[in-house]
Amino acid sequence: MAERRHAGRPASPGIALGPLVVWRPAGASPAGTGGGGEAERERFEAACLSARDELAGLADRDGALAAEVLDFQREFLTDPEFLDGVREALRRGCSAAAAVREVLGEHIALFHGEEDEYFRARTEDLVDLRDRLLALLEGAGSTPPGLPEGAILLAPELTPSRFLALDRRTLGGIALEGGSASGHMAMLARARGVPLVVGLGKLPGAAGEAALDGEEGLLVLDPTPETRARFARRRRALEEETRALHGHAGGPFRTAAGERVEICINVDDPSALEEATIAACEGAGLVRTEFLFFGRSEPPDEEQQYRAYRDLLARFAGKPVRFRTLDVGGDKPLPGITAEEANPFLGLRGIRLSLARPELLETQLRALLRAACQGPLEIMLPMVTLPEELDEVRAMLLRLREALAAEGESPPLPPLGMMVEVPAAALTLERFEADFFSIGSNDLVQYLLAAARDGTGPVAALFDPLHPAVLRLVGEVVEVGRARGIPVGLCGEMAGDPVALGRLLELGLRSISVAPSALARAAATVRRFGS
Ligand code: PEP
Ligand code: MG
Repeated sequence: MAERRHAGRPASPGIALGPLVVWRPAGASPAGTGGGGEAERERFEAACLSARDELAGLADRDGALAAEVLDFQREFLTDPEFLDGVREALRRGCSAAAAVREVLGEHIALFHGEEDEYFRARTEDLVDLRDRLLALLEGAGSTPPGLPEGAILLAPELTPSRFLALDRRTLGGIALEGGSASGHMAMLARARGVPLVVGLGKLPGAAGEAALDGEEGLLVLDPTPETRARFARRRRALEEETRALHGHAGGPFRTAAGERVEICINVDDPSALEEATIAACEGAGLVRTEFLFFGRSEPPDEEQQYRAYRDLLARFAGKPVRFRTLDVGGDKPLPGITAEEANPFLGLRGIRLSLARPELLETQLRALLRAACQGPLEIMLPMVTLPEELDEVRAMLLRLREALAAEGESPPLPPLGMMVEVPAAALTLERFEADFFSIGSNDLVQYLLAAARDGTGPVAALFDPLHPAVLRLVGEVVEVGRARGIPVGLCGEMAGDPVALGRLLELGLRSISVAPSALARAAATVRRFGS
């Protein structure tokens, strides 16, 4: 049979080659009436209890990011509005399954229609919860299929908890007919290095062998021997890159011409970070401290933050760790902290929000200062637009250090730097008294080209990190840093793309920080550069 190639959207890099396993979980059977109000109420309550237990089990097994998704679902199961809605439907004579379908269906439609990205992203979590409850009530079982070695799982959609329930020892990759590259499930896949392609469209009757390219966003069904050989070669090349990387044991990384390039990693979720990756890199170039704030009703206090920062420093064992202060707002709303705004990407986000809520920033800076006694810690500010923002934080840092000294602690003053991701800052960099600059290409590209960073929708093609305006500005930033003797790095997704990384190296950039799953690739690109 001739091979069939299906193009989707890349959502998590990597190559898989293996048997296709199709999973179309139950969850959409027709509504019906039950055998009686009381019996159905008991069945509903038992299903809620089982769902809570199942979710707790998944949360224990996985990291903070997963816990955030699962906590939301667990809390939803006790939401009075949800429970009242189901009880009301049961009183009307609905079966437990029909009541769940009806009431959660209403919530899903409501969340789906929200303007706010945070609530829209939650739609996926509610669909997940509905399907779990229905599977429990209808006996369909929410357990995933057994996966043969290297399997490529094909599903219409995959919810975060179903992803977490898959056996990752045998899972090769995931192909989704629907799905989103920016949803929670894709984030979980990226953090765990599982190749993922989304948006393939309906693939009825798909079976047999398959090949998946998470970087190109391609699924090949019934691949020919030549295609198989090509995918196998690419997979071996990736494995080789990973081996070469681990042989490096933390650098130094050099181009073919012997020039040093610093390669660090971005940390979004320390619990999903492997020790081998830490050993292989030169440090953490960006710690997104948001992981501490999501999935809880109150912000973490100073002691909780201090412990988390100290523990991460200990894991990096003397390698520098660059903590970014809270960067919520925009695509990362935090209920109770970020403001409701018509245009959140252009509003109170990053350092703007921290300066508007100084009590939050002071707590974080105190925790960071205390942790600085434990290892080489750096502090980075997100979304800086004006020099005064940086100056204000530096003054606050000095004040807090004095206060800590008065309490008997004597922390060193950590280097204080800034993200370069607002075009106005990038164009006036000579005015900023920073200890280092780190280009945030995700936001810089979005603001420079006026095209959303999620890379979807009708203007997706405009989000182009290789646009001449981007390359010119990055080149200028590198130049200003060099002229002023201030280190410049780049920590956006752009550095994880081999082609873009080649251009960045041509522009003279010599320090990058990439997602852990992109580390081996970046190291190999650097090694080949100039050969
Ligand atoms: C960026 O904007 O490039 C960046 C690294 O930060 P974030 O993706 O967290 O906004
Ligand atoms: Mg950013």
